Amino acid sequence: MLLEGLRREVYEMNMELFRNRLVVMTSGNVSGRDFETNYVVIKPSGVKYEDLSPEKMVVVDLEGRIIEGDLKPSVDTLSHLVVYRERKDIGGIVHTHSPYATAFALLGKPIPVYLTSHADYFGEEIPVARYASPFPLEDVGKALLEVLNKEDRPSWVKKHSSFVPVVLLKNHGVFTFGKNPTEALKYAVMVEEIAKTCYFALTLGVPERLPSEEISKWYERFHEVYGQK
Ligand SMILES: [Zn+2]
Repeated sequence: MLLEGLRREVYEMNMELFRNRLVVMTSGNVSGRDFETNYVVIKPSGVKYEDLSPEKMVVVDLEGRIIEGDLKPSVDTLSHLVVYRERKDIGGIVHTHSPYATAFALLGKPIPVYLTSHADYFGEEIPVARYASPFPLEDVGKALLEVLNKEDRPSWVKKHSSFVPVVLLKNHGVFTFGKNPTEALKYAVMVEEIAKTCYFALTLGVPERLPSEEISKWYERFHEVYGQK
C-alpha cells in the first residue's frame, strides 16, 4: 500500500477533528501531500468517522485522478488540490464548519487579535475569503488562494510563516493550512477555541484589540522560546 505513514497521519488527524468536536456526521476533511510524489491523501466522501481507517483514505494525484483507493474521495478534494498545485510549501489542509469560527465566517467578519493565545499562534487577524460557489468546481480553491497568497502581512509573521495558516470562507466555514496535516489540525483546533472565547466576550462587552507591538512580542516569544527544543 502506498504512503502508509501519510495515510496513518491523515486518518489520525481526521479522527482528531471528530474527537475535538470540530465536525458532526460526515462533514469536514483532512488531507496531506507527499512532497516526493506530489500525491495527496484525503478522507473518503460520506463515510462515518467511526468507520474510517488508514486503508480507507484515498490517494489522488494533483489532477484528482485516483491513484489508490476503493472509495470516492471527499467532494472537497478539488478545493484542496487547487491550493496544493499553487502552494508547493503546503503539506496539510483541514476543512471544517466548526461553529464558533464559522459564525465569524458567516458574517464575513475577520477575527481581530484580542487574545494573547491568538497572538501566540497566528500573530495576525484571521482573514475571511470571499463567498465561493460550488460551481465552477475550482472556485473555493481560488477564493482561498486570493487570501493565502496575500503579501501584506505583519513582518514578525512573515519571518516564520510563508502562508496564511487560517482562512475563513464567507458563508461557509474554515480552512487551515500547515507544513503537514498535524500542523493544519492544530490550527483548526486553536482557531475554534479562539473564536469561541471571542464570541463569549463579544456578547458580554467590547474587547480591546492587542496593539501591534504587543502582538509581535507574544508571537516571537511563542515561535522562538516556547516548548522543548
Ligand atoms: Zn464545507
